Amino acid sequence: MQYRDFGNTGLKISALGFGSMRLPEKDGHVEQDKAIEVIHRAFELGVNYIDSAYFYNHHESEVVVGKALKGWRDKVTVSTKNPDSSADADKWRTVLDEQLTKLDVDRIDVYHFHGINWKVFEEKMTRPDGCLKAARRAQDEGLFTYLSFSFHDSPENLIRLVDTGEFTSVTCQYNLLDRANEPGIARAHEKGMGVVIMGPVGGGRLGAPTAGIRDLLPAGSASTPEIALRFVLSNPNVSCAISGMENLQMVEENCATASREESLSTDELAAMQAAYEEKKKLAELYCTGCRYCMPCPHGVDIPENFSVMNTYRVYGLLDHAQAEYRDWMTEQKQTAAFCQECGECEPKCPQKIPIVAQLKETEAALGKGAKKD
Ligand code: SF4
Ligand code: SF4
Repeated sequence: MQYRDFGNTGLKISALGFGSMRLPEKDGHVEQDKAIEVIHRAFELGVNYIDSAYFYNHHESEVVVGKALKGWRDKVTVSTKNPDSSADADKWRTVLDEQLTKLDVDRIDVYHFHGINWKVFEEKMTRPDGCLKAARRAQDEGLFTYLSFSFHDSPENLIRLVDTGEFTSVTCQYNLLDRANEPGIARAHEKGMGVVIMGPVGGGRLGAPTAGIRDLLPAGSASTPEIALRFVLSNPNVSCAISGMENLQMVEENCATASREESLSTDELAAMQAAYEEKKKLAELYCTGCRYCMPCPHGVDIPENFSVMNTYRVYGLLDHAQAEYRDWMTEQKQTAAFCQECGECEPKCPQKIPIVAQLKETEAALGKGAKKD
């Protein structure tokens, strides 16, 4: 396993982190023995960073992670996320206390505000009774060590959040299909922050390469998940890539990839970059992600819906897009399903995208009623 600096903290973390959002389930509950076996195999192979969140696996992930940590606690960096960034300090603190109980630890190592954006930071978190103050109090009490955030907003706002200087690390999206956060990742690294990447191999669902994905890969390359992970780890500004691993095979394969010393060659990266630019042009015919249409009064994250839809439209990855959309749907009410067709967004779109109609297509293709491929 490769180990990398977690920013300027002095901590060395494994290049591959365990994402515990897709623990194996049966009848709507985590299969605990199976999940713990998978997590332990990752620890045995050198993974020393595990990431969870309050909502993962229907609120069960943290409990299972806590059980898996028995006997491993002092060797593993534990990360989780509080979803109540808009709430007042008391509510936010209640969630933290509950998470410490679920994880059965005295202290969390890396504690995130989950999925924040600039507006929430500016208008809610930094209020006198907001959760940023509560977080600093909890940190002083020793309930967590490093303050972090995960992020769903524009790439420009990632840089703004990094520049606040409030955070030790950031967890954000970055992968073969979506490189928009690259400048923010570079800025975070330059500022001495740890950078953790989520979704490096599309939650393991980039397994069977479609024609659209094959166009991106260097000739004669190995499996798509392997290249996808190597691509993320070839970025020297990245500390760790977390992958949601559901079974032992995924753990073995991802650990083998993260143990390779060599990243992709300059030629391979250049070829991938050129192919990516072509795909990006195609994706931008649908939506450039400028966010001028936002906010939606009903909470729909319009560009995020189109970004997920594009993994299907542009790359042909229906399974991946459906899984991402449905995971998201269970966590936050921002999917196309919540569009009330008020029409407020459409006049603001410089691309003149028929937003309502395309959101309907998105829900039809990816939502609960959609057919599996
Ligand atoms: S039409 Fe739909 S997406 Fe657009 S602003 Fe109204 S509810 Fe939001
Ligand atoms: S304004 Fe149009 S192009 Fe910009 S994010 Fe919204 S839908 Fe996409």
